[in-house]
Amino acid sequence: MADTDFDVIIVGAGGAGLAAAIEATDAGARVLLIEAGAKAGGSTALSGGVFWGAGTSLQRAEGVEDDADSQFGYYMTVNQYKVDPALVRRYCDLSGPTFEWMVGLGVNFPAENLYVSGVDKIRRGHRAKGHGAEIAEVLEGALAGRSVDLATHTRVQDLLIEDGRVAGVRVGGEAIRAGAVVIASGGFGSNRRLWAELYPSAAKQGELAWYIGADECRGDGLEMAQRAGADLVGHDRGLLLMTPGFAHDVESYLPPWVIHVNHEGRRFIDESTEYSVLSEVLSTQTAGECFAIFDEAARADAKAHPAPNWAADRLAEFAAKGPVVKADTLADLAERIGVRPATLVTTAERYSADARAGQDSAYFKAPAHLRPIETPPFYGVRIRPAIVCWTGTGLRIDAETRVLDQADRWMPGLFAAGETTGGFAGPCYAGGGASIGNAVIFGRVAGANAARMALKG
Ligand SMILES: Cc1cc2nc3c(=O)[nH]c(=O)nc-3n(C[C@H](O)[C@H](O)[C@H](O)COP(=O)(O)OP(=O)(O)OC[C@H]3O[C@@H](n4cnc5c(N)ncnc54)[C@H](O)[C@@H]3O)c2cc1C
Repeated sequence: MADTDFDVIIVGAGGAGLAAAIEATDAGARVLLIEAGAKAGGSTALSGGVFWGAGTSLQRAEGVEDDADSQFGYYMTVNQYKVDPALVRRYCDLSGPTFEWMVGLGVNFPAENLYVSGVDKIRRGHRAKGHGAEIAEVLEGALAGRSVDLATHTRVQDLLIEDGRVAGVRVGGEAIRAGAVVIASGGFGSNRRLWAELYPSAAKQGELAWYIGADECRGDGLEMAQRAGADLVGHDRGLLLMTPGFAHDVESYLPPWVIHVNHEGRRFIDESTEYSVLSEVLSTQTAGECFAIFDEAARADAKAHPAPNWAADRLAEFAAKGPVVKADTLADLAERIGVRPATLVTTAERYSADARAGQDSAYFKAPAHLRPIETPPFYGVRIRPAIVCWTGTGLRIDAETRVLDQADRWMPGLFAAGETTGGFAGPCYAGGGASIGNAVIFGRVAGANAARMALKG
């Protein structure tokens, strides 16, 4: 092997890359951490800062009984085993220790921010007090005093392949050599060309779709590793949030007081169901879309919390200029939005009777969310899963974060972690906080293993 400039090069300084850098340097490696953006953080810094963990000291202090076995069983079941069990097992074994590691570095996870995230039953969502920005800042702060060179404004263009192994990276035409490379360049949310290929559920939303993560996450890591022979796994995975397209801001919360009907005019879900499940269920409905229906009494009473765009005055604006459609009768509304009129009328009549009785006999939504639909005018707006939050199609890795080729062989010198990898993200976003978990947990594994390979061969 030619002389190396560094022991380990890490591509991308988000949650995965920062965690990898800390572990690699703690294992004795000289590390170069390369970041395309103006500063470290990536989507991690923009995130809600929820970490999905089991068997943590905070859970114990709060009297929550939990362990890795229970977390593993839950995640595998909810995802119908359509994920890599070895990755999930590693995640679950390391989520508790990684939580303690972050706390040790200085991330503040207050007791009041321990909650049941997603569709979970146990309080495993640990939200950092300062959200994702705090996690990124603390991890970046931990680089001080460690042997890590951080190069920002620097985009890695390709991997350097020599003698059949990954021997470094190419930046601006220059080769930088290392004993091992960790790809931690995040997802491909910012690259619409890759949506078409790897995330058709997002691509088919066309111009309605938009992305809320870091701009620099264009899937570079996926493409450079693929050029070197890496395999991809988890086609069409990711998290799409529901939206009526009112505005290009984060509208992950739809109000629970509307009803959702499909093109047939029928309800198909308890409208207060978690967004992680709602988008998946919606994909089974005609055209992968539905319509939120409500009446004038509900509109006039609508509050800005939890969905600011669904406040009374905003809804009046959207009804005047679109996209909300307004009509004097339900049958007329149905005609105008493309829903079967007679069925919508029956649906609204039965739901209104249920609302007055205080019991949803069809989908068992909590009584507090039930509003009759009987006061004209009536309103309807199309809802689609079109906000790309994160992508889950990515490099196939093993539980040691070694990147695999199409014959499942390790690619010498190459590791990957975080959103750039596939195999961990399933069809259901089973636990809110599992993406940051995926980044930080496997980032640590990748950093330690890359250092070991670089230093010991
Ligand atoms: C608004 C929002 C809220 C979220 N909330 C949560 C939450 O609460 N909990 C949760 O678990 N998940 C959440 N997620 C998802 C989660 O934040 C990400 O999946 C996770 O942080 C990804 O970490 P990462 O290190 O893999 O990638 P990132 O943090 O995105 O880091 C990747 C880095 O690589 C850099 N990069 C890309 N290409 C190159 C290149 N060629 N050369 C050099 N550098 C490059 C990028 O600039 C970026 O800094 C949220 C996402 C968003 C957008």
